[in-house]
Amino acid sequence: MSDTGDALPTDAVVAVVGAGTMGSGIAEVAARAGHRVMLLDARRGAADTAVESVRSRLDRDVARGRLGSGDSQTIARRITTVDRIDDLHPADLVIEAIAEDLGAKRELFRTVDAAVTGGTVLATNTSSLSVAEIAAATSRPERFAGLHFFNPAPRMPLVEVVKTGSTAPETIATLTATARRWGKTAVVCTDTPGFIVNRVARPFYLEALTMLENDDVEPERVDAVFRGSGFPMGPFELLDLIGLDVNLAVSESVYTALDEEPRIRPSPLQRSMVAAGLLGRKTGRGFYEHPPGAPAVAPHPAGDFTTVAVVGDLGHGSGLGNRIVAAHGLATRHDPDATPGIVVDGLTIEPVPGSPGATATFEVVADWSHAAVVGASGDDAALAGFSGVCRSIGVDVIRIPRAPGGVVVRTVAMLVAMAAEAAAAGVATPGDIDTAMRLGLRHPLGPFEWRTALGSRTVDATLGFLASTVDAERYRPVAP
Ligand code: NAD
Repeated sequence: MSDTGDALPTDAVVAVVGAGTMGSGIAEVAARAGHRVMLLDARRGAADTAVESVRSRLDRDVARGRLGSGDSQTIARRITTVDRIDDLHPADLVIEAIAEDLGAKRELFRTVDAAVTGGTVLATNTSSLSVAEIAAATSRPERFAGLHFFNPAPRMPLVEVVKTGSTAPETIATLTATARRWGKTAVVCTDTPGFIVNRVARPFYLEALTMLENDDVEPERVDAVFRGSGFPMGPFELLDLIGLDVNLAVSESVYTALDEEPRIRPSPLQRSMVAAGLLGRKTGRGFYEHPPGAPAVAPHPAGDFTTVAVVGDLGHGSGLGNRIVAAHGLATRHDPDATPGIVVDGLTIEPVPGSPGATATFEVVADWSHAAVVGASGDDAALAGFSGVCRSIGVDVIRIPRAPGGVVVRTVAMLVAMAAEAAAAGVATPGDIDTAMRLGLRHPLGPFEWRTALGSRTVDATLGFLASTVDAERYRPVAP
């Protein structure tokens, strides 16, 4: 995608229509970047309330010493409220952030299109609707694109710039350059369900829900393994934060729009929790009671062990194997007939997915420069000694009684599959998909980076194992 366009100049006027959560944040971002901002909302008083909320966020920054009080006042003065669509006439860019309703957005843009000049660029912040269908209500689909901010807009660094089949390259270049000048990282994607983040991320939630339905896992342990692997939150605590209903609506709409893609089949458990009003933090109960939310998890007790050996190529578990070898003065044993694994008092703990009938498996996905957690499932006796070995090198083991393919490795393998298929479908470049997943969800790595870190062999073997033991369609191999 050409990226040679100039950003909107500082003296360009930006209009934001819809002054709710997103609109007020977007207005703040544009005002901080130096633009005069017009804010319009259909509900009486809503735009003034939004300006007040911007002011209080600016005041907080002043109190924390991040912003001078003079600058704060200058920024706040740049935002004015207007009452009529015709007042938007001077705008060079109009960003819409009204309710997520196709009819309402089309009607709004029909009138905005008539009110502004021919050169004005129009953008929608929709999360899930077709940008092309909204653009079709205007006379300028070539000057129309999605500009998808994340919540809270002033703090979240990512913006997805969404191009339809009609959006002119210059429009994309202008919006991309403008978002960058506003301090954001812009990624470009096509007008597809969920854009990048909401599409590729579905397995982050759905694999956890499937584990809870079919395996022997507890939300707090799954979340602890994810946190130990560098994710800011595990899937269950994040579901409680987002709201199970909000997340379910996105899952269902992306699933339907992608022709019922089996990889992201919605979860019956989530549907029944939503029906029962267990929506997460906002109802006081989801997977956890709120407060307090996800409890701390004690590591598996570290048992005694007499012998330990590291056998064969441990793939993604090599980092753990190498540390055990170094700490215990061992040498890795290469025996082509032996199953690769960490052998503690004669019991082999294999890296996930493990061989059919493995007694115990482990997964290691943490950055070894930090405290690490190992998710392990399998036989109790095997795990006590294994936990002792791990503790001897400063690593805690969180026990997950039964989770085929591991917890994080399985989820990451599916994120890799969704990302590879999105890139193959032309949704975005692999680099932009990685950036979007890191910045939009704060994942420690993007899916393509994960594939390199874990190794394609682990990803393919995990999908293959799950395809043969759980669901052949959902875990089918990633098309090369
Ligand atoms: P919100 O309910 O907080 O705010 C919407 C505002 O739009 C309200 O103040 C409402 O009065 C106003 N409005 C409704 N119809 C209008 C109209 N015809 N003309 C003018 N104003 C109108 O909603 P939100 O969470 O800010 O979401 C806004 C948009 O941003 C939606 O399309 C949503 O999908 C998208 N989005 C939301 C998030 C999020 O996390 N909240 C993240 C990214 C994108």
